[in-house]
Amino acid sequence: MNVAEAKQRESQVLLPTYDRVPLLLERGKDVYVYDADGHKYLDFVSGIGVNALGYGDRAVLKTISKQSARLIHCSNLYYHEFTAQIAERLVRISGLDRVFLSNSGTEAWEAALKISRAYAKKTAPTGSEPKYRVLAMSNSFHGRTYGALSTTGQAKYRDAFAPVLPGVEFVTFNDVEDLKQKFNDSVCAVALEAVQGEGGIQLVSREFLETARALTAGSGALLLLDEIQSGLGRTGEWFAYQHYGIKPDVITLAKPIAGGLPLGAVLTTNEAASCLKPGMHGSTFGGGPLACAVACTVIDQIEKRKLLKSNRELGKYFVKKLEGLKKKHACVHEVRGLGLMVAIELDSADLAKAAVPAMLERGVIINRTHETSLRFLPPYTIRKKHIDEVVKTLDATLKALEQTHTKSEAQPSPETELVAQGSTH
Ligand code: PLP
Repeated sequence: MNVAEAKQRESQVLLPTYDRVPLLLERGKDVYVYDADGHKYLDFVSGIGVNALGYGDRAVLKTISKQSARLIHCSNLYYHEFTAQIAERLVRISGLDRVFLSNSGTEAWEAALKISRAYAKKTAPTGSEPKYRVLAMSNSFHGRTYGALSTTGQAKYRDAFAPVLPGVEFVTFNDVEDLKQKFNDSVCAVALEAVQGEGGIQLVSREFLETARALTAGSGALLLLDEIQSGLGRTGEWFAYQHYGIKPDVITLAKPIAGGLPLGAVLTTNEAASCLKPGMHGSTFGGGPLACAVACTVIDQIEKRKLLKSNRELGKYFVKKLEGLKKKHACVHEVRGLGLMVAIELDSADLAKAAVPAMLERGVIINRTHETSLRFLPPYTIRKKHIDEVVKTLDATLKALEQTHTKSEAQPSPETELVAQGSTH
């Protein structure tokens, strides 16, 4: 099958939910993926932050092969050996106390929202006012189910599906006064990403996060942190909140946790977990033996290969190099990053849109988010030479696009047209 055929056949039988890049991926090795025509691409998106150990990691493959021959799935009605093993690891690296395992980030976030309301109900003094409001953030992203959508502060994701869950109010991200003003005793949770991912790699300010912690701690509300994109080492600490020296009540994880297999997790304090009892939450697939065995391997590999330290160092190197590009290209507004969660902000959505296929044509996969941000979420296994290659390619791409875009904003670049016709480098 080639990309044109895949596109044509999918168009007949799939719900039209994805606007795919014209690339038919066949296999991956290290930090590269290969398309059906054998073209090689340096992957700086890694499945939107999933393939942290790159492609074909030996330890991951060994665990998959061994565990899939033994037991792929068993119901949560029974025990298997890897539930405790993965939960113990997550507790150790987070400083939290308890774990629930789901299949995806959205589901983990859904569980976090349920916990915040159940905890408020359980701890409410008799006769007190209802405590049910969730303060979520503008520009946030938490997933596609109703609870997750309701707390996602971008109308474009919510509006078609309204009315969404009641009791959610949005605070302007990083606006401390807005947070203080909207917070009161009716709030059961303040919910945010420490680094907004879909929102274009926007870091929470220290003051905002500390205020959110102080307000929630003072009133018995929970602080929920979505670490689905930022967690498990990407920012150079296990979790982004560890850069800030605060401890949340509940965090959610997913993406890189199980080497590409679907797995999510909610981690809570003992106190927050005290609102749950058997039957209140569950999942058929969540936390199966294969996904949990692989997740143990992923965490062990990140530790063994000291990837937190290298993510910190590589992240600084990458940002410095991109700052260099900013000096050369007037279209680059800002460079943002924490570890290997990095973005550059361009001054035009058209340019950012054209940059993705133009980079692809030169053999590099990047992603655009939030209209004008080019986002980089490479595997943790990249080396400096890969960063150099991406920056060099970006330099050439921006140079070419700046010329064509100043000539005519409305005209697609020749590169964009080539990719649109299915011809990539
Ligand atoms: N939360 C954040 C911060 C995310 O980045 C994402 C996915 O991009 C989600 C939640 C949803 O996770 P999933 O797609 O695994 O359901």
